[in-house]
Amino acid sequence: MINKERGEILKRGGIADIFEGQKIFGREFALTSGRKTVSPLAYKTADRVFPYLRLITKPPKNRGRIILRGSIHGDEIPGTNTLLLYGSEIVERANTLGFSLDIHFCGNPYGFPRDRYNSQYTADLARGKKYLGNNDFLRYELSDGTIVDDLGKSNDFKNWYWSTDRRLKGVDLPVETRLAQKLLRSEYRTKADWQQVKAIIDLHADKISPGSMAKAAAYHYAMGDLSVYQPIVTEIKKIVPVWSGMAVGVTVPPSDSEMVIDENGFIVRHDGSLPDLAFREGVRQAITTETAGATPLEKACEVNLVWIFGIMDLLAKEV
Ligand SMILES: [Zn+2]
Repeated sequence: MINKERGEILKRGGIADIFEGQKIFGREFALTSGRKTVSPLAYKTADRVFPYLRLITKPPKNRGRIILRGSIHGDEIPGTNTLLLYGSEIVERANTLGFSLDIHFCGNPYGFPRDRYNSQYTADLARGKKYLGNNDFLRYELSDGTIVDDLGKSNDFKNWYWSTDRRLKGVDLPVETRLAQKLLRSEYRTKADWQQVKAIIDLHADKISPGSMAKAAAYHYAMGDLSVYQPIVTEIKKIVPVWSGMAVGVTVPPSDSEMVIDENGFIVRHDGSLPDLAFREGVRQAITTETAGATPLEKACEVNLVWIFGIMDLLAKEV
């Protein structure tokens, strides 16, 4: 359901500021959900405090948890717009089906909506600091002891670690990545906590790959049995074309681990991202959604909603 205010926001190109979105969501959410825990968390730059909005819902009957995150890459705005503009419907559906949600509305409040990373980090880079991405949640130890942050097509490794693990050396992560890991660790302390998490959906947009700024499109990262997502892909194809058979350069700077998208728009890649970490913690449905940067915001949000509702429906049949 698109109300007038949301229609206006989408028409003008999205929520311009996380504070604005917080107000809109707060107003709508108050009307539609009875039980909630809102944790506005702040962290500081030199001149401003940014809210990290996290919401954990507790439905009357809990069949499991779904983690949702928007816009860890700050300039990929559909994620945060989807979660803030449609949050009330998402929460309502999850409550009805009996799923608890852990929503991270904007993974990168510094960068949103301007910058993939954040200004402080960009300044650090200018001072010659080593590059590390902000969706950098995992390290793999290979059989020869080498530590890497991305396995690419391979799934061969000896061990894995959270990228904030103290045993690792020289991993200097951006502030939003450290904060997210702290928040996740405080909620998911044990194996049993992770067993409760049935799915994670990380909402992105692609402004990097060749052609991404030319035409609307979608594709996706996932792991495990991809056939279960067929009904979701069918729905997405009704909204935008789904890319296939092409390589996408998904890292900056481009690495040699470019991957080719399969006929249903999927890439399987253990890239050390948050969904990859969740997968290692035992979460079976670990999805990264992508819409091409040229996709109109309204359609990009629709694609994200198809994933969110589709995964809920899928889980409702399974658990
Ligand atoms: Zn991204």
